[in-house]
Amino acid sequence: FMKGKVLRPGQTLTEEQAEEIAMMFNALLEITEEVKEEKIEKGSEKNDPEEILKERWNKIYKENEDKLIERAPVVTIMGHVDHGKTTLLDNIRNTRVAEKEAGGITQSIGAYQVNYEGKKITFIDTPGHEAFTEMRARGAQATDIVVLIIAADDGVMPQTIEAYNHAKNANVPIIVAINKIDKPNANVDLTKQQMVAKLNLIPEDWGGDTITVPISAKAGQGIDELLEMILLVAEMQEIKCYPEGLARGVIIESKLDKFLGPVATTIVKDGKLKVGDYFVAGSTFGKVRRMIDPSGKNVKMAGPSDPVQILGFEEVPDMHSILYGVKTLHEAKEYVEKKKALEEKVVQKRHIRLEDALRMMKEDGEQKTLNIILKADTFGSLEALKNAIAKLENPEIELQVIHGGIGAITKSDVMLATASDAVILGFRVKADSSAVKYAEHENIQIKRYDIIFNLIDDLKKALQGMLEPEE
Ligand code: GDP
Repeated sequence: FMKGKVLRPGQTLTEEQAEEIAMMFNALLEITEEVKEEKIEKGSEKNDPEEILKERWNKIYKENEDKLIERAPVVTIMGHVDHGKTTLLDNIRNTRVAEKEAGGITQSIGAYQVNYEGKKITFIDTPGHEAFTEMRARGAQATDIVVLIIAADDGVMPQTIEAYNHAKNANVPIIVAINKIDKPNANVDLTKQQMVAKLNLIPEDWGGDTITVPISAKAGQGIDELLEMILLVAEMQEIKCYPEGLARGVIIESKLDKFLGPVATTIVKDGKLKVGDYFVAGSTFGKVRRMIDPSGKNVKMAGPSDPVQILGFEEVPDMHSILYGVKTLHEAKEYVEKKKALEEKVVQKRHIRLEDALRMMKEDGEQKTLNIILKADTFGSLEALKNAIAKLENPEIELQVIHGGIGAITKSDVMLATASDAVILGFRVKADSSAVKYAEHENIQIKRYDIIFNLIDDLKKALQGMLEPEE
């Protein structure tokens, strides 16, 4: 209203002008309040003591770049059921783990470490991409390298594709192990062809950049080469850690032991974890009473990439939470108090929904890709849908099918959606009850269709911000 008008000092306002200014001032106040409220909502992550610890570590990394040193790679083996994950893990453990306790039956603690040519490699021995993706969804990248195992007598199967997509979305380097080459019906060439056709992975010896090692997990053939390749990839990746001070680790297994109480296995990522240290993890805390290494031995200290089972938790920590060493009992207790208070008013994380994809993207400003997980009844319809989606052009949002699969929507799909902030679209498929439950819990949108036109139409509308919400 006063555009263009300059008030000189000493000039008196008319009543009207004064009123207008007062109104503007009030409106401004209201806006400020709104912004404040929004900030508090968004800032709740900052009240999370876990976020503060995470920030602290980010800072340590930034400020000590020259002090970061190489650590052993942590490897997860993934692949279709029966393609040989367990056999490979067993073979490596049985033949390479140097120290075995005399006469001791060593129970698995969820991970083990081998020494190959003077270098360590840690294997997580709970195979399965669900665990892998769940860790990532919680912000814990436990794995540095994925070995994707494909049986040469069976080729690329649905879970191979699924595992591959999980690893790819986590940005973890993949080594392909073509297994069961001892079998008379093994066909390594055909398997490689399928790698190219179905995974878009081109083996190195075919001019691509995917390291591919033929092995027989059962006969122990090719295992040396595989371990060498793991070390090579690790070297190229420059897997680093900050080796000093309090520890940070990822919990890969946790349970209530009948005799020992709450126990959990952590793979230390940074620093040193010592007996007597206080720590926090998830929403609990503890003091290291005892640490057991994969060979069943008690150890006093664990460093980067070492897996250890820890005794001394107050409660069983969430699987896949991050463990942080803290200085004092006071600090640990304070953390848990804050964490518990926060849990009482859990704000569910907002995940993307088709109806407000456009708006959410504009708000966030950064995310310009709408991630889609697509499940269909047949390979043909999956391909047709993918092609149709690829043709939907939009200057503001890019549609990306981060995983396409055949069959029902499973919990694993929802986990991937959680980790990648995606919507799940099903075409002529159902969703498992566990998937539905998990999706509700995680606030993930699942939409099912029986007609291609409707699916594509919904996506078109979503891109224009014109899709009506459900219900
Ligand atoms: P997982 O489901 O991926 O853990 O697969 P397993 O390790 O349990 O293996 C499934 C079956 O394939 C078992 O009967 C294994 O003995 C067999 N198997 C695994 N690796 C090989 C191999 O290299 N050669 C042959 N001939 N059989 C294998």
